[in-house]
Amino acid sequence: MKCSRNSRLLRRPRPKQDESLVGYIIRLTENNYCPNINWILRMSGLKRRGIHANVFSPNTDDLSRLSLLSETEENILWSMAFPLVYPSDNPAFNTVKVFSNIVSTYALNKNFIQLCPICLQVEPYYRRIWDLSCLTACPIHQCLLINRCPQCHQPIIWSRPSILKCKCQYDWRDFRPQPVGFEQVTLSAYMYKLCQIRGDFSGISQNLSDSNPVGKLSLSQLITLLESLTKFFKIPIIRRGLLSYTASFYSSTVTSDRYYDRVFILLTDWPNNLLMFIKDYEFYLKKYYHSQYILHPTEVDMLDFFREILTCLTLNNYPFFTKVIEDYFWDSLRRMSLKNVQISFFKNSQFYSICGSLRKGKSFFEKLINKFDLKGLTLSRLLTDSKINIYDETIFFKMSYWSCLRFSSTDELLQSIQ
Ligand SMILES: [Zn+2]
Ligand SMILES: [Zn+2]
Repeated sequence: MKCSRNSRLLRRPRPKQDESLVGYIIRLTENNYCPNINWILRMSGLKRRGIHANVFSPNTDDLSRLSLLSETEENILWSMAFPLVYPSDNPAFNTVKVFSNIVSTYALNKNFIQLCPICLQVEPYYRRIWDLSCLTACPIHQCLLINRCPQCHQPIIWSRPSILKCKCQYDWRDFRPQPVGFEQVTLSAYMYKLCQIRGDFSGISQNLSDSNPVGKLSLSQLITLLESLTKFFKIPIIRRGLLSYTASFYSSTVTSDRYYDRVFILLTDWPNNLLMFIKDYEFYLKKYYHSQYILHPTEVDMLDFFREILTCLTLNNYPFFTKVIEDYFWDSLRRMSLKNVQISFFKNSQFYSICGSLRKGKSFFEKLINKFDLKGLTLSRLLTDSKINIYDETIFFKMSYWSCLRFSSTDELLQSIQ
C-alpha cells in the first residue's frame, strides 16, 4: 500500500495517552508503509529531528499539518511532545516542559532511547517517560529498560524504522529481560508517580516516608538533585564506594550501567542511608591511609569528599541535604581530636585570622559569616578556596587574597543587581 497523497493519511491510529510524539510519528510511518519517518516529517512541514527527538519548539514547529494528516487534535499532539521553554544559544542550557515540570534537556536521554520489551508486548507504542534519563527500570514489569539491541548490540536510536524492530530485524518483544528486585525499581516507581502515570506496580511502594524531605521535591527538583549527585559519583573512587555500599541493597545481580537508582537509595530512609555511605567511605580511607585520611596528598581524602559533594550541590539549593553533609563535616573534625578551627581571610584589603572552638564548629562558622558580612561564603567555598593545614590540634583554612577579592567583587556585583 502506498502513502496517501491526500491531506489525511490512510491509516490514522489514535495516539496513546502516555505515548511520545516522535514515537507516534514512527507508528504513523509504519502503519502507512511510508519509507521512513522523514517522509511524514516533510509532509507535516516539520524539520528533521535532532538528538532530543521528542523536543518540539512552539516557535518553529507547527503541528497543524500533522494534526490534519493524523486527524488528531493539535493540543493532544503538543501534550505528547516535550515543548521547548527557554531556547538558548547553547543547547546545553535549553529547558523543556516534561510532565508539567520545567527541566533542563540533560534530563532527557540523547543519542539513544530505552524501552521495556514487555511493555511493548502488552501494547506496541513508545512511552514518553522512557525518555527520562533518570529512569532505568520498568516498575510495572520489574525489569531494567534496554538501550541496546540484544541481537546486534547497537544502541537503540530514536530514528529507528519501527517501534518494535531494530535495523537488524530483531523484534524487541522477543527479548526476555531478567527480573530485578523491587529495590532496583524504587526510583522508577516513584518517577511514575511524579509523572502521574498509572499502572499496576505489583505491590512496589511508590511513596517515601512522610518525614523524608525528598518526598516533598517536585519532579524537576528530584531530577536536578539526582543529576547533581551523579556528577559527584563520576569520581572513580567515590563511584566504587557507591557500588559497594548499594550492592547490599540489591537482591539481584542484574545491574544497570547507570547509577540513578543507586544514588536514589542514598535518599531513602533519610538521612540514615546517606550517613552510612559517608561512614563507609571514611572507614575505607582510615583503613588505607590511617591518620592521613582527612588530608591526603593524592587520594580523594575526606576533605575532598566534602568539597566535591558540596560543590556539586552549589548551584541548586537543597538545604536538607547540605545540612547533613555540613553537620557530618564538623563532627568528623571533632572525632579526629582536633580542638580548634582557624580561618584566615581578607576583607576590604585587611587581613583577619579568627580562631574558634571546634565544639561550636558550625555555629562558629555561621557567626563569622554574619560578623564580617561574608555573605556567600559557604563551606564548599571555604574548602575550595583555602589552603588547609592541620597541626597543634587545630585545622587552618587560609583563604587567598585573590579568592577573597573575587568573593567581595561577586558580593558587590550581586548588590548592584539587586
Ligand atoms: Zn514494562
Ligand atoms: Zn539490532
